[in-house]
Amino acid sequence: MVMLKILQQYYSATGDERVIDCLTRYFRYQLQELPGRPLDYLTLWANRRGADNLQVVYWLYNITGDDFLLELGELINEQTFPWTTIFTNEENYNDPVTPWHYARLERYPFDEEQINTLTISKTGGIHCVNLAQGIKQPVIYYQKAQEEQYIAAAKKALKDIRKYHGQPQGMYGGDEPLHGTNPVQGVEFCSISEEMYSLESMLTITGDMEFADQLERIVYNALPAQASDDFSSRQYFQAANQVELTNRLETSYQTNTHKGTDFVFGTLSGYPCCTCNMHQSWPKYVQNLYYATKDRGVAALLYAPSEVELLVADSVPLRIVQETGFPFRENVQFTLELPNAATFPFHLRIPGWTENAAVSINGEAQPVEIKDQIAVVEREWQNGDVVTLHLPMKLRATYWHDFSQAVERGPLVYALKISSESRAKDLKDKYRAFEEVFPLDDWNYGLIEKDLFQLPESVTVIENDWNGEYPWNLENAPIELKMRGMKVPEWKLTNGAPYFPAFWGGYTGEQPPVEEITLVPYGCTTLRITAFPVYAVQ
Ligand SMILES: [Zn+2]
Repeated sequence: MVMLKILQQYYSATGDERVIDCLTRYFRYQLQELPGRPLDYLTLWANRRGADNLQVVYWLYNITGDDFLLELGELINEQTFPWTTIFTNEENYNDPVTPWHYARLERYPFDEEQINTLTISKTGGIHCVNLAQGIKQPVIYYQKAQEEQYIAAAKKALKDIRKYHGQPQGMYGGDEPLHGTNPVQGVEFCSISEEMYSLESMLTITGDMEFADQLERIVYNALPAQASDDFSSRQYFQAANQVELTNRLETSYQTNTHKGTDFVFGTLSGYPCCTCNMHQSWPKYVQNLYYATKDRGVAALLYAPSEVELLVADSVPLRIVQETGFPFRENVQFTLELPNAATFPFHLRIPGWTENAAVSINGEAQPVEIKDQIAVVEREWQNGDVVTLHLPMKLRATYWHDFSQAVERGPLVYALKISSESRAKDLKDKYRAFEEVFPLDDWNYGLIEKDLFQLPESVTVIENDWNGEYPWNLENAPIELKMRGMKVPEWKLTNGAPYFPAFWGGYTGEQPPVEEITLVPYGCTTLRITAFPVYAVQ
């Protein structure tokens, strides 16, 4: 399945026709073999990930129109874990601890009655990376089925993941199985890469901007935090609240299974899968910045400094140069270059987090109608026209685990700025070497409830000088927030992790002094507190 994705990517870059021939032959072989040796003939993981197979089958069908591919698609869909049924089955949510206990379903064929009468299993839930890959399955199959229930199933799953397992950076607690909302629980790098790819796939098929909003949240918060600046080392797990990364840090599930190296930075620490998987994240995101539209125009759906060339109107070559400090700044500027004037629509995504978005052309405000989070500007475009999109970024506080709150502004989630030092370990073996990270600042701060009710006045937003250098570290952070905080004296490390103190809401000791604290974008941090306990004091 991984090779299918690689061949598809290779074809999109080169147009090498051997890919079409190779995939056609392979899929004929699959059609012949799968009835006797189903997807999970060797391992049940393959039935969880059947969408990756199905996706390339339908991609090839859209090129060749070979009918046997649809027949194969039905077979693969049947042998794939029944994600649609699972996502929409309310019975699965009754257990507050592990609301999704469908680990009990193992091999194909799946027993429909069993799916619908699953009882509570305490043996663990679904695997985090399987979920990241499986969430797109209903929408992949929707291409053939054309029934809205499949899109609704994926959207319901996104909401349920947020509710039962969500962390502020856009991902979910899943250190192997799903593990609830506690912000000290690990998030695997593979699940970020795969969740991004699934959201990109669902965005492409549906044009539904809900998928773009979630993708943007993950890519500009969770993703940059988990890799070193040069992308040569990474964590196996990250967490929304992490203040010390050592080979003694344990999580609920992974105790000592990887010599405790799940949270440290290394090339192969934790488990090596993420080193194979992390690289699809940024390049595939770049592939999804722009889309051609069926009305012969162009759509900019995700924002980042970039250049694109494509054909619009009656095959007029268009080049767009996008200059922006997004996601740290509120303006996105597009310069259009084309050989002759041409009339076509320019679609712009208006993110769900903004209000009063504005479009101007060559400096003049442009009235635009926004429908389904898309603004369309249609006119006769001239070479050199400049479109500026203004996306006001409002400060807001959001609720997370155990009534904790996070501070967000526009697409970014903010976290406590904590200076740190790294110590290299195990240098004898260069593949096993890793770095532990220790805090140099105090981290046990809570926020003040009254201030969160008085946004934006209670926060000072500081746009730092930034020349466009790599922004995802503390040194170059292009923006920061100043606000009030108070230490929570009872809040200490438990087994190396900053679990919330049992009863911080009812603190009755001497009131700690109010201090000014600094928050920076989550993606700039190595150590951080993101979900804060909140003081109900003046
Ligand atoms: Zn992994």
